[in-house]
Amino acid sequence: MSLVQVYSASNSLEAHSLKGMLETEAIDVVLKGETLSSATGELPADVLAVTLWVDVVQEAVARKVLAHYEAQSNAVWWCSACQEESGGNFEICWQCGVPRAEIE
Ligand SMILES: [Zn+2]
Repeated sequence: MSLVQVYSASNSLEAHSLKGMLETEAIDVVLKGETLSSATGELPADVLAVTLWVDVVQEAVARKVLAHYEAQSNAVWWCSACQEESGGNFEICWQCGVPRAEIE
C-alpha cells in the first residue's frame, strides 16, 4: 500500500471530520502532523495543519469527496426559520438548530 497526500486540513478538528466523511465512503485515511505538534509542546495541536493521506488506489475517489466538501464549505445558506446565514460546512442552523436538509 502506498500513501498519497490528498488534503491539508487547517486544524485537527477539520482533519477528523474529513477522515470520518471519507471512511463512510469506505476510504481508509491516515492522519499525519498531529503527533509532531504535541511532541514539541510549543503550539496547540489545533493551530497546526494536519494532512490526510490515502492509499493511491483510492486517491481519485477521495479527491472527489473532498472537492464536494470544499464546494459545500464555500457556499452559504439561509435558515428558513430565523433567516440567519450559515456557512456551507454547517449541517444545522448555528443559531436555532434547524437542520439544513429541511430547508432544501
Ligand atoms: Zn435558524
